[in-house]
Amino acid sequence: MLRIEVHTPVSDQADPIETAIREHHIKAADVHSAEIVHRSLDARAKRAPRYDWQIDLELENEAFYLKKLKARHTEPYHYQVPEAGSEVLETRPVIAGFGPAGMAAAYLLAAKGYRPIVVERGPAIEDRKAAVDSYWKTGVLDPERNVQFGEGGAGAFSDGKLTTRVKDPRVRLILTELVKAGADPSIMWMNHPHIGTDALCGIDENLRKAIERMGGEVRFMTKLEQIVTDHGSLKEVKLSDGSVLPCRMLILAIGHSARDTFRMLAECGVPMEAKQFAVGFRAEHLQSFINARQYRSIPEGTVLPAAEYHLSHTSSLGKGVYSFCMCPGGYVVAAASEKDTVVVNGMSYAARDGRNANSALVIQTDASDFGKGLMAGVEFQERMEHLAFEMGNGKAPCETIAHYLDPSAGNEISDVLPTYPLGVKMLDLHPLLNERMNQSLAEMLVHTEKIFPGFTKNGALFTGVETRTSSPVRILRNLSTMESEVAGLYPCGEGAGYSGGIVSSAIDGVKAAEQIIARFAPPEGLE
Ligand code: FAD
Repeated sequence: MLRIEVHTPVSDQADPIETAIREHHIKAADVHSAEIVHRSLDARAKRAPRYDWQIDLELENEAFYLKKLKARHTEPYHYQVPEAGSEVLETRPVIAGFGPAGMAAAYLLAAKGYRPIVVERGPAIEDRKAAVDSYWKTGVLDPERNVQFGEGGAGAFSDGKLTTRVKDPRVRLILTELVKAGADPSIMWMNHPHIGTDALCGIDENLRKAIERMGGEVRFMTKLEQIVTDHGSLKEVKLSDGSVLPCRMLILAIGHSARDTFRMLAECGVPMEAKQFAVGFRAEHLQSFINARQYRSIPEGTVLPAAEYHLSHTSSLGKGVYSFCMCPGGYVVAAASEKDTVVVNGMSYAARDGRNANSALVIQTDASDFGKGLMAGVEFQERMEHLAFEMGNGKAPCETIAHYLDPSAGNEISDVLPTYPLGVKMLDLHPLLNERMNQSLAEMLVHTEKIFPGFTKNGALFTGVETRTSSPVRILRNLSTMESEVAGLYPCGEGAGYSGGIVSSAIDGVKAAEQIIARFAPPEGLE
């Protein structure tokens, strides 16, 4: 198979495969198959913006074309599920959590005949959507039905960005299954693919129905409340509905916000450690401002996707400060899972056509910020979230970035209207961070203003606080078998500290399922 490239003006509606075949003078009769594998937008140069395409072709007389086209040889995509093992599985595998990691693990196990039982503390997506809508309208939070908990996990009310730095053949597996479940096929080749929350919810539901059709079972509003071990091996799990399930294999895919479950696991003696994470604020700008900066020359009438940005800086104190989860044309959301707290995050719809761009600007924290002890990071997050609630009197604390940098600048809302659904209160955000964090963020902003003029001006806002960037703990596991020291327990996904984002969490879920498949034969006759 050969990989060739072609460039097309963004306004060009022609099929890029046909354009590539024509421009590279390939005989149509020689083409056995052709597939777009990548598209990126080049809009920073002075010339008119263009799309750069990569196309894989299976050709007659490949050696001839390899030389003629100066093309790259490439292997066809291949993913192989491991052969089933021979150990006898005495109980159906249980998966706690139905976010990307738990869902991907359940999908693969169900597809291979292992009939997993998923327990998810939150509700199915329709019920969850109603609860989240109600919270965003009334401010009354349901601690089990919210942006963190329920079908689809933390990824459901998101921008649905599918970018990942993980280089793994399973990325394509995940994208392929998402397309089968209803995602737009363009996610297979977009440079920065995204789905949007409106599309994601239906996709999550389709994936669950597929899991059920393949023999899996999903129990909503059912929380894993305790694990019971016998001589260091998992024996059973106790659930919030009062039931006790015999359980020798448990995939723990609980996400980064299940603080009660982290505490329960620590009490049950599951080996864990505190880990670094980042906290900060959501920045909001007019999307038109970001577009103008990122797209140098846009010919009249050309429609380009809402532009993105990525920023990172190391402060003089050695702290990393970076943009995170940028949502072009998106909205700042209320993402709390505990009462009397404020937690912000970002989402967008598939069209990414909101007036504002938002992105978290977060500062790396460590024990020098949150203190020593397994739960010190969790407690640090909790303190920040409660303080934000108190400072904003239930609304989100908000400040113009200009005022954050210089108290003599105005702190009134102007061009950028905040999108946080429960209202904001304009004040000074400094009390939410410690001195080192404030200094590091200020240095990053001063640096950013130099390379991105206007970023800290033009009414740009900060809304706080962004605390749920990654897990504050790691649930330890053997690096090759993925098993905890508690035999039969497989911590995976973002909450366990091994992934960050939808795709990498789903990959970690697939890997956990592979471990079980490689070890055990599919269960027969187990209820
Ligand atoms: P989660 O998705 O957190 O799922 C864990 C699940 O476990 C939850 O459903 C929870 O209810 C359940 N659970 C917890 N405890 C228990 C228990 N005791 N018993 C039973 N069930 C339990 N990432 C991206 O890549 N792109 C984005 O655009 C993006 N945007 C985001 C926007 C928002 C608003 C948020 C909150 C996150 C966003 N993320 C995004 C991050 C992404 O959602 C997470 O990285 C990903 O969902 C982690 O997957 P996971 O399966 O490990 O955990």
